[in-house]
Amino acid sequence: MKPLNHTVSEFKESIFTTMTKMALENSAINLSQGFPDFDGPKWVGDLAAKAMADGKNQYAPSLGILPLRTAIANNYKRFYNLDYDPISEIVVTNGATEAIFCAAMALINPGDEVVVFEPFYDSYYASLKMAGAKVIPVTLFAPEFTYKMSDLKAAITVKTKMVIVNNPHNPTGKIFSPAEIKEISELAEKFDFYILSDEVYEFLTFDQAHNPTACFENLRKRTITISSTGKTFGLTGWKVGWACGPSEIIKAIHNVHQFTTFCVAHPLQVAMAEALANMDEYLVDFKRQYRAKRDLLVNGLKEVGFNVIKPAGTYFTMAILKDGESDIEFCQKLIREKKVAVIPTSAFYIKSDEGTRMVRFCFAKKDETLNAALTNLKSKEPSQ
Ligand code: GLN
Repeated sequence: MKPLNHTVSEFKESIFTTMTKMALENSAINLSQGFPDFDGPKWVGDLAAKAMADGKNQYAPSLGILPLRTAIANNYKRFYNLDYDPISEIVVTNGATEAIFCAAMALINPGDEVVVFEPFYDSYYASLKMAGAKVIPVTLFAPEFTYKMSDLKAAITVKTKMVIVNNPHNPTGKIFSPAEIKEISELAEKFDFYILSDEVYEFLTFDQAHNPTACFENLRKRTITISSTGKTFGLTGWKVGWACGPSEIIKAIHNVHQFTTFCVAHPLQVAMAEALANMDEYLVDFKRQYRAKRDLLVNGLKEVGFNVIKPAGTYFTMAILKDGESDIEFCQKLIREKKVAVIPTSAFYIKSDEGTRMVRFCFAKKDETLNAALTNLKSKEPSQ
């Protein structure tokens, strides 16, 4: 048989799939893949059930239903004073993952260079490779997860087509400082590149308000803002996300979207349009709940003796391993002996070996799950 596509053939199984599978096989507590082990809000589920009962079951408009695009635009205005035209500057996608893929296909020509901060969410690399990009990593160094300005300057050249910023950042929990975004923005003006700003954790910030990249001076015109309701409503299986940006860019992203998936599940869009328009009360509780979970896990891990880094955002926390320990072996041992599954972070790097000395814990889990994991980690005996 003739060979398959050589780019795609090289992709490995996603680390999230691997670790969740290992957790199930070993009956381990799963703090690896980022999803809540509790249900999303019932009132949002009820809205979707009603939309189905009301017959919203055929294809939705390819751009997304207008009430949802309007609710998204209204929230950008309300929360961040950011203007997006719901008619021409927003496209609803199957989660942020599809928005990232469509943006890569829409903007990148084979050979274009794209700078990513590593560690990075795994779909960036795959989407960029499928679009034919050359991926240029810039490493964020623990414990603050800052980049070296000399590394960024060396990575960015006239060939740079796009820089991906994930803020708040998975897996580190970092929030990029205004000074860092300003540095990137100055380089963007000088070298004329696009910025893909993945802000799926925009409502998971603990000590400061989220500041979208597009709000920075000069960045609105070159930024594609991506977000998703998966994290905000704890409904990762619904896959309702979007991309916002200048109309010519959104038109190109939509061109890809219409020929990959065409549209997003119609009843879920109807539910999300209403949920996004009525989320203020929900958000207060959401943030309080996740701050408490962060503190429970971070403090508990410290008691066990882990060198954990308290995250400023997201629902992940990183722990630096002891000298001589390496992430993959550590994770295998933790699953076998303590029945707790976490992510080996080397999977998020392509250049640096920084990831081999860290692991990622997810705290989007019931308190009882987090407590059970901590009990296992504390115990001297191997868990059954
Ligand atoms: N974003 C999630 C995580 O970081 C996983 C998403 C997925 O499994 N595709 O764990």
